[in-house]
Amino acid sequence: MIDIEDLTIKTAADLLSKRQIKAQELTGAFLDRAHKLNKKLNSFITITDDVAIKQAKKVDELIVDNQKLNPLAGIPIGVKDLFSTQGIRTTAGSKVLENYVPVYDATVVSRLKDSGVVIVGKTNQDAWGHGASGENSDFGSTCNPYDLTRVPGGSSSGSAAAVAANLCLAATGTDTGGSIRQPSSFCNLVGLKPTYGRVSRYGIIAMASSLDSIGHITHTVYDNALILNITAGYDQFDSTTSPKPVDDYTKDINRGVKGIKVGLPKEYFESLDPGIGEKIISAVKILEKLGAELFDISLPHTEYGVVTYYIIQPSEVSSNLARYDGIRFGFDREKFGAEAKRRIILGTYTLSAGYYDAYYLKAMKVRRLIREDFEKVFKKVDVLICPTLPTPPFKLGEKITDPLSMYLADIFTVCPSLAGVPSLNLPCGFIGDLPVGMQIIGPDFSEKLLYQVGYAYEQETKWYQKRPDLI
Ligand code: GLN
Repeated sequence: MIDIEDLTIKTAADLLSKRQIKAQELTGAFLDRAHKLNKKLNSFITITDDVAIKQAKKVDELIVDNQKLNPLAGIPIGVKDLFSTQGIRTTAGSKVLENYVPVYDATVVSRLKDSGVVIVGKTNQDAWGHGASGENSDFGSTCNPYDLTRVPGGSSSGSAAAVAANLCLAATGTDTGGSIRQPSSFCNLVGLKPTYGRVSRYGIIAMASSLDSIGHITHTVYDNALILNITAGYDQFDSTTSPKPVDDYTKDINRGVKGIKVGLPKEYFESLDPGIGEKIISAVKILEKLGAELFDISLPHTEYGVVTYYIIQPSEVSSNLARYDGIRFGFDREKFGAEAKRRIILGTYTLSAGYYDAYYLKAMKVRRLIREDFEKVFKKVDVLICPTLPTPPFKLGEKITDPLSMYLADIFTVCPSLAGVPSLNLPCGFIGDLPVGMQIIGPDFSEKLLYQVGYAYEQETKWYQKRPDLI
C-alpha cells in the first residue's frame, strides 16, 4: 500500500498525473487512516466514505480517458462543518444543527468539487466558530496531533488536526478573528486568511458577517496557493465578494524576497512567551539573509484589538444566530452551548437601544483607527511579520473555564481581521515537540506577495517535513 505520510498536494498530483497511483487507491489509503486515527484525534464529525469513493472513481475515469487533470483532481480534502454540503450533514459543530442536511453546496464547495477534489469528511470545530482551542465543539474536543494532551487551536480545529495527521491533504477553514491562522500555527501548517471579500461566503454558516473570511489549510505554501486559485473570486451569490480579477497565485511564487521591505510591529513582540519571540526573530533573520530589508514599525491601536473585536463580533453573532429558532430547521435554542449563549447575551446587550452608540458604534470607530494603522505602515513597508499566538499549544482544559484568558489567545490575530487585510500563518519551528507559527500580513489583495515571501522562507527551512508520530 502507498505511504501517504509525506505527501503534499503537489507530490500527490504528480503521482496521479503520471499514472503511478489511482485516485481510488489514494482515497482508500486516506480513508483507512482517517478511520484509524479519528478515534484518537476527533478531527472529523462525519467521514464521507461513499462520497469520496464516488468522486475518486470519476477522476480515475478521466485518467483512463487520457484527459488532462486539474491540479486538484483526486486530492483528498476535509471540509469544515460550517460549509454547506449538499446531501451531507452540516452541523457547525453545534447540536442545534445535529441533523441538518443542506440542499445546496457553498460556492467554495461547488468550485472545489468542479475541480475534482475528493471530500473525505466534514471536520470538527468550535460550535459556530466560537473559540480558539477546538474545545467549544458540541461533538467533543479535537486533540493536537503533535501532543494529544494539548489543543490543536480553533475554531478550524478538526481541519488543522486532520491535515497535520495526514488524514487528508488540505482542508477548508473560516477565519473571523484567527480561526485559520491559530490552528495552523499550533499544528505546523500553512493557513491563509485572505482579504475580506476575496473568497465567497455563500453557503457558509455566518458567524460575524463583517469579519468572516474563508481560506484553506495545507502543508505547504504552494499547495495553499493552488487551492486559492480555485476558490477566490467574485460570486454573484455573495455581494461582499470583490470583482477584482484573481491572480494566478502559483505563478512566480519562487521570485524570492530581494528588496522586499518587512516591518516588525513592536506591539506584537510584547506580552508573549519569550521562546516564541526568539523563533520569529530567527525566521526574520533568514529572510534578511535572503535579501529582505527589515524595519521596526508601530501599530499604535493594537492594544484595543481584543476589546473591539469582542464587542463587534458578539453583536453580529447575536444577530446571525437569531435565525435558529427551531421553526424552520434545526433544533431550537435550548441546544446552544455555553459559549454561544454567552455571545448572544453579550451581543444583544451591545446592540440594544441606548447602548448601541456606547458599544457597537464606538467599537466600529476604533476599528477604523486600527485599519488606518495598517494603511499607514503599508506606505512604508510591503509586509509585516509577527507571531500568530502568544504561547505554544496549551493543555486541553487549561483555559476552558476562563473565557477571558481564552479570548486573549486572539491578541495577535484580531487586528488584521478588523482591518480586513490578508494574513498568512507559516510554520517557523518548534519548541520541544510543539509547533510555532508566524504571521505574514500584507495590504488588501496582497495574497500573491504573502505566498511569495512564505515560499522563500519555507524553501530554506522545510518545517512542513516534520510530521507528527501517530502510529
Ligand atoms: N477565537 C476567536 C473567537 O472565538 C476567533 C474565532 C474565529 O475566527 N472563528 O471569536
